[in-house]
Amino acid sequence: MSFDSFLDDLAPDMDGDLDPDATLPGITEGEIVVIRSTRRKKNISAYRAGGRIVVSIPARMSKADERAMVPEMVAKIRAQEAAITMSESALAARIDELLRELAPEIAIRPVDVSWRAMRERWGSCTSVDRTIRISDRLKGAPAHALDFVLFHEGIHLEISDHAEEFNAILARFPKAEIASAYLDGYEAAETALALPDELKKLLSK
Ligand SMILES: [Zn+2]
Repeated sequence: MSFDSFLDDLAPDMDGDLDPDATLPGITEGEIVVIRSTRRKKNISAYRAGGRIVVSIPARMSKADERAMVPEMVAKIRAQEAAITMSESALAARIDELLRELAPEIAIRPVDVSWRAMRERWGSCTSVDRTIRISDRLKGAPAHALDFVLFHEGIHLEISDHAEEFNAILARFPKAEIASAYLDGYEAAETALALPDELKKLLSK
């Protein structure tokens, strides 16, 4: 999905007719946002926006229909994503490849690599238990951007800080600048298109 369509769908609701119960109990957790669109007559759309799943439904849809349809749409999006994103074992295998190729002096391997809903960071590594978490915002990212984060977290298995030694190894990544540009650009767009205040209030309830 594009940010354009996100704004497009969001725009009709900006004049104050946001449903006060716009998030569903049970599946909210800040990840799923339901928008009632006055412009939308009968069709429903769902898409990812900045780590969230946004479901846009007609303004007049009943609460009962909403409760039935929204989980269905969310399941559909998740199934689509599962089909196109790397499995967690594939992430671990990729870290192994990157370390073997670019940092052979690092022999430690993660015991667990998982996708995680993280909006503040691209990845994190706990060297004590050798676990790595990757932000699900990287699902669908260009391979070099995902690789860059996987390599970064892989180095952390051995080196916890971002000092000279860490940076010297990270600099071996061949497309570091392009990868950084993608990640920075994504974050800039995310900040610029941050959810409006009304939605933020709903999500923080
Ligand atoms: Zn780091």
